Amino acid sequence: MSPLVDLRSDTVTRPTAAMRAAMMAAPLGDDVFGDDPSVNALQDTIASMLGFEAALFMPTGTQSNFCGIVSHCQRGDEYIVGQMAHCYRWEGGGAAVLGSVQPQPLAHQEDGTLSLADIEASIKPDDAHFARTRLLALENTIGGRSLPVAYLEQATALARAHGLQTHLDGARLFNAAVAVAATTGQSPQHEGRHIASFFDSTSVCFSKGLGAPIGSALCGSREFIARAHRIRKMAGGGLRQAGLLAAAASHALEHHIDRLAHDHALITQLAAGLANLPGLKVATPHTNILFADLTGPAQHQITALVAHLQSRGILITGLYRLRFVTHLDVDAEGIERTITAMREFLAP
Ligand SMILES: *Cc1c(COP(=O)(O)O)cnc(C)c1O
Repeated sequence: MSPLVDLRSDTVTRPTAAMRAAMMAAPLGDDVFGDDPSVNALQDTIASMLGFEAALFMPTGTQSNFCGIVSHCQRGDEYIVGQMAHCYRWEGGGAAVLGSVQPQPLAHQEDGTLSLADIEASIKPDDAHFARTRLLALENTIGGRSLPVAYLEQATALARAHGLQTHLDGARLFNAAVAVAATTGQSPQHEGRHIASFFDSTSVCFSKGLGAPIGSALCGSREFIARAHRIRKMAGGGLRQAGLLAAAASHALEHHIDRLAHDHALITQLAAGLANLPGLKVATPHTNILFADLTGPAQHQITALVAHLQSRGILITGLYRLRFVTHLDVDAEGIERTITAMREFLAP
């Protein structure tokens, strides 16, 4: 039996042998006392990599975004955010439910951006009728798309001109950075820092394409991170010998950023292999995520298709659209198997 090809998400990776070794070798303390050397080293590394004063290790990206939003906003404030953004749609409404911060969701444009005109129009006047608009939260990559750097600069400048803070949900920041680096010839590390430079705070996930088992980091000014630290404690995110996990994240930062380009190449390979199948409309491939839709007579067969792939040892998500995500446990052979299994179903 060939190994499973798990394309459901880039969160499914198992730590590599080298990562496990780094975890086992990590010096540990108690991070609630602030003396876990491996957590402190990770926080220093990610803050300086992305050009911030400070960073805080978080168990999840959801908690990182929550602490970020609530550290920027007071009760009764409002944040502007995309309709499909994780920190609006996919986090159980935490900022509103737990933080009393109201979202102002905006529709995305075709390329995943929020239009500057829409952002500007949604900023409320200072009037007793309205929540105070305090924050613009963007996501990059979004739906696998790397947002244009010029757009990030313009949108954050607009926010600043209106006195708003800016937060980047950069769960897949380094995928965005690798995509930009492919066009500029600079390093992904350089581009990651450049992308983050437009924002007051940035959240980044280690548990996605970077391949760590658990963890995210929230980055910002020292004062902002001190506020977030209290919120994290309140949310139950004060971890003890967290250096075990931080060591995995540090290993990922050192060894797993440049290789994201390989995941992107696999998505291009997959998109090309699926391009001419009948009953399938394949979206433009972006970074490590590919969407596709069934059309015509195949339209209502999404559940059957997902089951067919599963019977061939291939896992994808297919709630409304088919979604394929590559990561460090997927190789070119697994992609070829996926293309073959898709062809069996759609063009037998
Ligand atoms: C995965 C993800 C998060 C955080 O998810 P957790 O499962 O809570 O770690 C946040 N934002 C985006 C865009 C994500 O893809």
